[in-house]
Amino acid sequence: MLIGIGVSAGVGYGPVVRLTRSVPEPSEGEQHGGDIDTETRRAVSAMEETARDLTARGERAGGHAQEVLNAQALMARDPALTDDVRRRVGEGASATRAVFEAMDVYREMLVNAGDYLAARVADLDDVRDRVVARLLGVTVPGIPESSTPFVLVANDLAPADTALLDPELVLAFVTEEGGPTSHTAILARSLGLPAVVACPGCTEVREGTRLLVDGMTGEVVPDPAPALVEEVEAKAAARAAAAAESTGPGRTSDGHEVPLLANIGGPKELPAALENGAEGIGLYRTEFLFLDRPDVPDHEEQVAAYRAVLDAFPGGKVIVRTLDAGADKPLAFLPPPAPEPNPALGERGLRMMRRFPDTLASQLAALAEARRDTKADLRVMAPMVTDLDDAEWFAAASADAGIPDAGIMIEVPVAALRARHLAGAVGFFSIGTNDLTQYACAADREIGGLSRFQDSWQPGVLELVAAAATAAAEAGRPCGVCGEAAADPILGCVLVGLGITTLSMGATALPLVRAALARSTLAQCREAAEAALAARNAAEAKQAARNRLPGTAALEL
Ligand code: PEP
Ligand code: MG
Repeated sequence: MLIGIGVSAGVGYGPVVRLTRSVPEPSEGEQHGGDIDTETRRAVSAMEETARDLTARGERAGGHAQEVLNAQALMARDPALTDDVRRRVGEGASATRAVFEAMDVYREMLVNAGDYLAARVADLDDVRDRVVARLLGVTVPGIPESSTPFVLVANDLAPADTALLDPELVLAFVTEEGGPTSHTAILARSLGLPAVVACPGCTEVREGTRLLVDGMTGEVVPDPAPALVEEVEAKAAARAAAAAESTGPGRTSDGHEVPLLANIGGPKELPAALENGAEGIGLYRTEFLFLDRPDVPDHEEQVAAYRAVLDAFPGGKVIVRTLDAGADKPLAFLPPPAPEPNPALGERGLRMMRRFPDTLASQLAALAEARRDTKADLRVMAPMVTDLDDAEWFAAASADAGIPDAGIMIEVPVAALRARHLAGAVGFFSIGTNDLTQYACAADREIGGLSRFQDSWQPGVLELVAAAATAAAEAGRPCGVCGEAAADPILGCVLVGLGITTLSMGATALPLVRAALARSTLAQCREAAEAALAARNAAEAKQAARNRLPGTAALEL
């Protein structure tokens, strides 16, 4: 059995399909056998077939994905590039080496052309890998095509890959890398896909092997006995049944109200939010709308994407986060000013918006328009706020756009420590425990091997949450949590005990959290919070809290 970290509950069972990413670089100086015409034909037809394949994929995908794939097809057909490949083959280079070298020259050109074109380098690399893979007769990199359901195994998945997964075909996914709070894990939850990350050895499982994946426990079993499959599936069903007993708004068993909100990345996640009883939206990750876009989407398109969400929650609260571009969510139209050795510590979130204030202004203008005639209670919030200057700048930008309800995310440890000062500048706080944990424990969210530190149960992280919640309460401001910590039923109760006023999470986590609250009193939540703060480490904090929340045992089978 392999063990990783379960990041999206549910059980998946089926044959393994592996995601191949890397294509070997053809050796330097590699020559063909002497037949220039045949070798040239081989190179040119691999480029043409790749272009055709990309166009066909674009037609299937539609929408913005199609624009990106069409642009890639144009790269594969670029006449200057084809001429360069011919010339190199003419000089003796093998087709693979000629393609590799010609693409490299093109690549340098893009890199040096600055901002917009530099952001297309990843697309060009993908085209090169596809052509080279074709010439070598190896699997083309990317999400494999299959007409029957499978378990996807990969070293890592980019958020852009994960967003394209078809939940009808992908039964579960397992990755060797990736932390529990990585955006890949978050997307898995939003798609309702069982997922395990940071699972050493998973990429050695052979293609076609049947794999049992438990997204709750993190257990991954190759070729399991049928009895085990039944047992694991029965437990998951029992957990879901216990969760389904609680309905209605979030509240503790003694009636303390804790509105339960959903995190979404776009309107297509609304049905799941509504089905799972979300009382509003606590985090609309707007950057997910634009991940694959070469330019800032125009005003009308933005208004439509915001209005669709507002319309789904008449009378409810909808918190829209302004673009959190940068780090693992680069946007082509918002490039960092220089290469960043540690992107998570670089230009991202509000920092990026302060560099590109027009982009923020256009987003706020679209939100202000969507807010007109809506029955929902729209609020905006900024990610990656560090200090009072940041908070005041964002509040002023929102007010200028005519949006009075501006809040900030608490993700940077100093913002939590100085929450008392920030509370006067904005209307509310929402704690992003994923980043708060990453920065407080100095552990990159993307690195699988650091999962011990990417744990919001770390008592030090809980101290920061308590500091922000207390400061907000003293200033009479709400303080929610919209990081993954809110999706853990036991930790959700602890957060409420620390003074958190709303919990927002991927929609599929809502029933379990609702049930955990309904099975606990506010006093029990507070005792659990006290016990967790007093614990020596994350594991003991969780155990101490669990002991004080006996009603939740049935949810943790
Ligand atoms: C967080 O950091 O906890 C958060 C909710 O934002 P994101 O996961 O999108 O960085
Ligand atoms: Mg964050």
